[in-house]
Amino acid sequence: MDLLNTLVDKGLRRETPTRAEALAVLATSDDDLLDVVAAAGKVRRHWFGRRVKLNYLVNLKSGLCPEDCSYCSQRLGSKADILKYTWLKPDEASQAAAAGLAGGAKRVCLVASGRGPTDRDVDRVSDTIKAIKERHEGVEVCACLGLLSDGQAERLREAGADAYNHNLNTSESTYGDITTTHTYADRVDTVHKAHAAGLSACSGLIAGMGESDEDLVDVVFSLRELDPDSVPVNFLIPFEGTPLAKEWNLTPQRCLRILAMVRFVCPDVEVRIAGGREVHLRTMQPLALHLANSIFLGDYLTSEGQAGKADLEMITDAGFEVEGTDRVTLPEHRAGGGCGSHEGGGACGPAAADSCGSAAEEARPDLVAVRRRGAGTDLAPNA
Ligand code: SF4
Repeated sequence: MDLLNTLVDKGLRRETPTRAEALAVLATSDDDLLDVVAAAGKVRRHWFGRRVKLNYLVNLKSGLCPEDCSYCSQRLGSKADILKYTWLKPDEASQAAAAGLAGGAKRVCLVASGRGPTDRDVDRVSDTIKAIKERHEGVEVCACLGLLSDGQAERLREAGADAYNHNLNTSESTYGDITTTHTYADRVDTVHKAHAAGLSACSGLIAGMGESDEDLVDVVFSLRELDPDSVPVNFLIPFEGTPLAKEWNLTPQRCLRILAMVRFVCPDVEVRIAGGREVHLRTMQPLALHLANSIFLGDYLTSEGQAGKADLEMITDAGFEVEGTDRVTLPEHRAGGGCGSHEGGGACGPAAADSCGSAAEEARPDLVAVRRRGAGTDLAPNA
């Protein structure tokens, strides 16, 4: 297919596709799906080989958020029966992180619900970062604490944070439909603050919230412009008790097309499959490794992922390898700043589903399991 040959050539040259080309990827038929995966897979292998970076989420503070992000189980008014707890102590967080690191993760993503941290919160997280770094040489730490005020990114960087995650989530034009308590511009501003402080910026999206193909392309092009080192791609987890509980729009094929489009637009960036991997890709997860070079190991913030052991087996069975701490994630031309391996954390508030292109899914609430183990519980984490 001419389109795919063109996109591979551009991806290998780090050239931006046109919007029409990105839209055309989303519009491909199921008959062409393996060709799309193979083409985007060439770009992925060119920049990242067969390595898969593992990231591990620690939810430092769960639930009770005053913001109203519709996709989020921790939002104001959420009826989702999730764990709710306030700040984990540095020791508790470090212990939770240790399980993920023992399972092969090289990055720990410290996430807290809320609009943004107070200066006291930044102190707490700084202590946690130090506790983790003291115990685990070479670990990368990404913070995801919401909107940052002036000077906070610098303080996190001084405390040893390598990266900061703040997702754009959706296109600027639909942002107001998803959240009313803060703006798209607020989010962009925080990504800029992270960049300016020398943190590796991580910013991504949520697919499956009822957005159009144009919205998806818009947000991915906006991300390319922001130039984060990593782009987490969430697929909406339609949590019961949230406004988007009925949004079951994604199919595994649709998820693969979205990941391929993100890879073509952001060829040399860490593309991470984030929340919703198991729920929406299901048995097609191994194919997605040909597109993304990074996943979360084990559980998400408020929902359970597949067993960490199953993640590791999937990577090996699909012919990929877990990226060690001795490898720099990003290609040399990107690896100069920040942590030297760039990438970012686990999206504050997981998510999603998507429509268009393929038939909508039937609702499958049986696939969504609220997290009941790991951080904030007495049960062993899944890693
Ligand atoms: S995504 Fe973050 S800011 Fe939004 S409701 Fe969830 S925890 Fe709060």
